[in-house]
Amino acid sequence: MTQKNLPHFLKPYAFIAGEFIPMAKQFPVQNPATGDVICDVSDTDETHVIKAIEAAHAAHIKWAKLLAFERADILLKWRDLIVEHKEELARLMTMEQGKPLSESRAEIAQGDNVRWAAEEAVRVHGVIAPSFKAGTKAEIFYQPVGVVAAITPWNFPHSMITRKVAPALAAGCAVVLKPAEDTPLSALALAALAHMAGVPAGVFNVVPCSRESVLAVGEILTTHKLIRKISFTGSTIVGKKLMAAAAQTVKNISLELGGNAPFIIFNTAQIDRAVSAVITAKFRNAGQTCICANRVFIQREIYETVKEKISAEINKMKVGDGLNDDTILGPLINVAAHKKMQEFLKDARDKGAVITGPIYNEQSGGYFCAPAIIDGVTEAMRVMQDEIFGPLLVLVPFENEDEVIRAANDTNYGLAAYIHTGDAAEGARVARALDYGMIAVNDPAIVHHSLPFGGMKESGLGREGGPDALKEFLEVKTLVTADIIT
Ligand code: ADP
Repeated sequence: MTQKNLPHFLKPYAFIAGEFIPMAKQFPVQNPATGDVICDVSDTDETHVIKAIEAAHAAHIKWAKLLAFERADILLKWRDLIVEHKEELARLMTMEQGKPLSESRAEIAQGDNVRWAAEEAVRVHGVIAPSFKAGTKAEIFYQPVGVVAAITPWNFPHSMITRKVAPALAAGCAVVLKPAEDTPLSALALAALAHMAGVPAGVFNVVPCSRESVLAVGEILTTHKLIRKISFTGSTIVGKKLMAAAAQTVKNISLELGGNAPFIIFNTAQIDRAVSAVITAKFRNAGQTCICANRVFIQREIYETVKEKISAEINKMKVGDGLNDDTILGPLINVAAHKKMQEFLKDARDKGAVITGPIYNEQSGGYFCAPAIIDGVTEAMRVMQDEIFGPLLVLVPFENEDEVIRAANDTNYGLAAYIHTGDAAEGARVARALDYGMIAVNDPAIVHHSLPFGGMKESGLGREGGPDALKEFLEVKTLVTADIIT
């Protein structure tokens, strides 16, 4: 795809105050399946980042004054345009991100964050509190926080954006979005469609930038006084830096950070169901999701059986370009991700692990990585300590419930956890004992726009989606009014 083949509504520039604006510098966006440059994208300079913030501030004042019903109507039009262009958006996503087209389509169709936010926009109710003083009325109500800086990762180029931007807009905020450098095109497409739907100029701005510029752009977004909220999804290390920077001006901050999801299979589990769930929970997006099963704990008695069945499944997996119909595993996002997997494998092998999986012939150009099972792991191995973010499946045997709860909780992360058991009481007990924000029992599906998404400990702060999706973008105000005595 060259620039002239991008969707007609999209230009690879910054999108500020309702216009696509080219920058002096550009950076290449690659197709990770081929290594080809899709197109060069504007590297937003500092002056224009500030312009975007000022435009957002000016626009948010008017946008916040619209009726919630009016904002909801505009968001529903945006949603309609997304549905109308879903095939173009899906292809664009697969081109820049690599995931199979079926997964891109599902991300767009199922992650219906825009409709959810539009529906919730008209359900932000304040309350009249019991009066604490005769002759006064006490009210508690909500108003938008103001300008939001949204910083998003590359693994879900569509839903990570709609999950932040739609509730922010529904709440009456304006947004300056800095998308990941690997996937800015999906972000620009979403902003263009929002504009076409009637989101006023300045309410949704996109400032793509290169890896070289990210520190300077991040500095502005985290310290500018007109930014009142930072909503970030990405690595824990960067999240901590942003939180520290945001402290200077005490900005409201939401963080969706890394995970180290345990997947626990008890003896009583339905084995085929558990195996199918592991495959889904581990290999979606080539293992590049923060809720991917990172450590699979299998009770000793069924360990070998489960391992054999998982092994049979991964041997069938077709690795390839996401645009091919039969691809199950697309490429990793970039050369750094590919190198990290090789390092993990070497570290595990050097420390005594047994690695099995399909033999895979290197395809030229792309960042492909074959799925692998890592058996015989020890705590000293990097695959046990780090978030893997790739198609390497770590298996760990365990003896009993107490042991596995301890091991599962023995991490600084606390995002998602999976339990498979035939014993309902055991499922409930273990779910209560795990320090994780999201837990699935006997099923791999855990994410839906109607449910809160987020983690405990170093996996983040706040929740996205769910019944309180808009609250993350609202301030609480208390108002006490005394009667006028005539
Ligand atoms: P990943 O390792 O998944 O790429 P990162 O945390 O590095 O995760 O990136 C997530 C998002 O944070 C991306 O949009 C990236 O450009 C952005 N980012 C990285 N470093 C900074 C920074 N210092 N300031 C602001 N944004 C940053």
